[in-house]
Amino acid sequence: MIEVLARDGLAREMKWTAGRISLPTPNILFLRSKGLPHFDRGEGFLSSDGAVEGKFTLFSGGSWFLERSNVASPSVAPSPLATPASAADPSSPVIPPFPNIPAGLEAGPGEAFAASLEGFRSSSGMVLPVTGVYPPDIHGTGAELFVFAGALENSFRPRRFAEELVRLKEAAGYSRLVYAPGLGEPSHLAFLAYCGIDLFDSAPLLAAAGQGHKLLPGWRASSAERGVCHCPACESGGDGPEAVYSHNCYTALSELRLVRSAIRGGRLRELVENRLSDAWLVAALRHLDSRHYEFCERFFPVARQATSGMRALGRASLTRPEIARFQKRVLERYRRPRSAPVLLLLPCSARKPYSSSLSHRTFRGWIDRSGNPGAVHEVVVTSPLGVVPMELESLYPAGSYDVPVSGDWDETEMRILRDQLGRFISAQRYQGVVCHLSGMDFLGEALPPTAFSTGGQRATARASVEEMARTLSELVRGLPKVNRRQANSERFSSLSRFQFGPGGEALAEGCELQRRSNDWRVTDGRRTQLALLQHERGLLSLTMDGARRLLGRTGYEVEIGDFKPSGTVFMPGVLKAGQDIRPGDEVLVTHAGELRGVGVAIMSSSEMECSRKGAAVRMRHHISSKEGGR
Ligand SMILES: [Zn+2]
Repeated sequence: MIEVLARDGLAREMKWTAGRISLPTPNILFLRSKGLPHFDRGEGFLSSDGAVEGKFTLFSGGSWFLERSNVASPSVAPSPLATPASAADPSSPVIPPFPNIPAGLEAGPGEAFAASLEGFRSSSGMVLPVTGVYPPDIHGTGAELFVFAGALENSFRPRRFAEELVRLKEAAGYSRLVYAPGLGEPSHLAFLAYCGIDLFDSAPLLAAAGQGHKLLPGWRASSAERGVCHCPACESGGDGPEAVYSHNCYTALSELRLVRSAIRGGRLRELVENRLSDAWLVAALRHLDSRHYEFCERFFPVARQATSGMRALGRASLTRPEIARFQKRVLERYRRPRSAPVLLLLPCSARKPYSSSLSHRTFRGWIDRSGNPGAVHEVVVTSPLGVVPMELESLYPAGSYDVPVSGDWDETEMRILRDQLGRFISAQRYQGVVCHLSGMDFLGEALPPTAFSTGGQRATARASVEEMARTLSELVRGLPKVNRRQANSERFSSLSRFQFGPGGEALAEGCELQRRSNDWRVTDGRRTQLALLQHERGLLSLTMDGARRLLGRTGYEVEIGDFKPSGTVFMPGVLKAGQDIRPGDEVLVTHAGELRGVGVAIMSSSEMECSRKGAAVRMRHHISSKEGGR
């Protein structure tokens, strides 16, 4: 039985229960066999030598796979000594035998280990080895654990690794366990968990020990080197292969706990980027980001606590799925406020939301002096997000990202910003453009030839802001006067469309906004509250009245069976979910076209499609509760 405890993108913290013992995942299966050094501090074991008392044990050496492979494909050698190449042949339409020998293991201290890998058999037969081409319905087999048999060979071919992984995850479904045999060195654990792989083994720890390598996260030290580590194995002073193996195991266990903590805290991507110390990790992450965005993005939350923020510190952050999604939605979903045809490009601020920073308060004051501030649309240009229309400033990740500011831009950043800005400007059809940025001349070709540049040497300098206000007042002269209420309502309309997709504008009709600190309260103008935008959450929270305005107009609906939801809607109760729903999304809960409540999606719609249990939506309001409030 598998229980999902926490999610972060493709990664999950889960509990796998077989018989009376449970195994928390992600986890390492420690090899246990005669002739191998035994490390007994782990939580899970892979044994050819009987059960480990009181610990979760998977058995190796059974005959189940051999039988299966003989039946499925007589042409594929059933021997566990089959070469990696033949076992991973992608043209093979059958499930080939498992395992193949992890490459490099022969050099390890345990010759016996190779012989012990005769295939795995869990006590209840819940394990299925898969590689190559998967039948699309393998998730229907009843297996709880899929063995990603080609993981190790493909780890030397990052592009292929990403392709195979995505194929396996698509076929297996989100909530099954995946085991990557032969992988699991400390530096790789964060990335592998990020890929949605749940189980690893100690083979690479053993192999490294045999080669005299003490493994540390992001580092390899020689076993001869003393004083690099504080673990019990190193403190006891041994430097033979067994002590080094012990060290490697302790290091992997510590890293594993960090990985689980990062999943719980929604910070796994930061940890992954922190651990990019191997060329293949960097390459595999790039392949996932750039070639498999559509698959990965579905599982990434649309909101995170502003306090945990997003750290976008290096090249790898530029292609992070949440960032790519934000950029894509700004270009595809977003519509500017109708009565604001004058674009004002502004720099970002370290403080979020931007509008609470000193520089933006200064800009705001000067925009007000233009005579028609409602006709001016403020848009922040920032790396790595690209363009952030001011009304989206509280939305994740715009509301809570942290980037190093050095004033230098690398080629990739410049290209992304230029491209994003150019496409934004041409899609939104502004009548005038004022670029109040300094030190970003590389954006020039993204701007229309009629654009004004007012940023000067420093955007906050008195001369610069005066020039900006002067230019704006010339551009807004002759445009219809936009009062504050209309300006707010149109900006809110753009925001609602951004969150709920086309149709989201219905929430904003005739609305009124009140700001309290960094939060906005939205009413219908007659005291009925429709929604609340809390900077801390980074998304609109709906009341029942607000949800009623969106009913039937948005894809953010979860259709349930005929019951009154309260508290939490669990998985068997969900009949259908809109394709665009991501973890953290605000959703309408409906039955046969009738609004039954409103809440926050815990799973993505992709997960709802293939899960039979688990919490799907945490309800905020429901039909039998007192309506209104937050
Ligand atoms: Zn150590």
